[in-house]
Formats: sequence, structure tokens, C-alpha cells
Amino acid sequence: MNGETAAVTALREGIISLLESPAVQAISFQMGGVAVDGDSFQQVALRMRFWQHVRQPGETRDRPGRYPIRIRINPHLDSRVLGAYNQHTNTLVFRNANALTTTDGRYTVIHECVHAASDALRLRHLAFWDEAAAYLAEHVYQFNVNLISITDASRPSVHIHRLASNIASSISSTGNTTVESGDAQRLFDEVARVYRPVTGTTRTSRYDYDGIEF
Ligand SMILES: [Zn+2]
Repeated sequence: MNGETAAVTALREGIISLLESPAVQAISFQMGGVAVDGDSFQQVALRMRFWQHVRQPGETRDRPGRYPIRIRINPHLDSRVLGAYNQHTNTLVFRNANALTTTDGRYTVIHECVHAASDALRLRHLAFWDEAAAYLAEHVYQFNVNLISITDASRPSVHIHRLASNIASSISSTGNTTVESGDAQRLFDEVARVYRPVTGTTRTSRYDYDGIEF
């Protein structure tokens, strides 16, 4: 018994299917020292599928197991976000188990899984590059599935989405997966402008991901 409800199990299996779908596997870019590609998402899918038995030192029996990347439903999640990734507990957090039923929800899953992939690969880089990459992955996916969303102009992140969409459009039309440094810097600056007052993260703050142990 792993403590998952049927709804969470369905969400976990749905996320794994999304991550292994051709449209997500085709995401590929390098920007500001962050590289995202199909393998990044495979690394997350692997850790969501792998059943881990737990045996503590000195114990002779396995304890009930768990998945290295867990899912938690938190109805009280900050209303500004649809999802979150906690790198200390290796947990994807969603407000409800219906995250995959809307396009925005699927974009959020991809965004948070970019953070999870950085954690799986134990990357250490500037926080705003990690955020910029997560937004860009959402938009490259949108191009891959021919779904262009209209971002609500009242959202603080509207300009992040516009810049990321333009970069994704350029990747899609040219096939050049290395983001030009001027475009990358503009996206970084906009992420900094929006995130700094909310999270206190500064331009030199790092996400020192601590890994996801099997
Ligand atoms: Zn993020």
C-alpha cells in the first residue's frame, strides 16, 4: 500500500504518459547554460514510475515503498500558481488531481517537470535560468501540439509568456535549438522582474538541486 488515492495514481500515470508523448519528447533547447530535451523528461518519468522499497540500516525487512518523485494534492496551494515542485521532498504539488484535464494544467505539469528534471540531474544553476527554461518548455510544447494559448493579460507573468512564445516560435520555424543570447537575456530579465518581489529570489540566487535518490 503506497498511500496513493486512485485519483493520484491516475494523475501520476497520466503525467508519465504526457512526459513520454512525442510532443514532450520533441522539446529540445539550450538557453543560459540550461539544456532541456526528451531525456530530461524521461528522467522524471523514470522516477515517477520506479517503485522503491525502503530498508533502513539495521532493519531486516523492507518498509512499505514509495516513488522517488511523489505527487501531493494541496487544495490550499498559493492561488497564483496551478502547481509547484518541492525539490527538498521531491514532490510535485497540485491543487487537485485534475491537472491534466486543461491545457493550462498540462503546461504547468511540463513547467514543474523541468524543475524536477533539474533536480533529478542534480543541476546547480541560477534560479531565473531554471524558471526561464521551465516557461520556454511550456511554449515549445504548445508549438509541438499546435496549440497557441492566449495568456490572460492581467497575469503578472504575461510578458514572460509572450517572450517565451516568441522564442519557441523561432525554435519551431528555424530548428535552431540554441536560444540566441539577446532573446535569452530578455526572458531572464523579465523572469527576474516578476519573481524578485514575490519570492525574494535575486539575479544571483541559485537552485542547488540536491538530487532524487532511488
Ligand atoms: Zn517554475
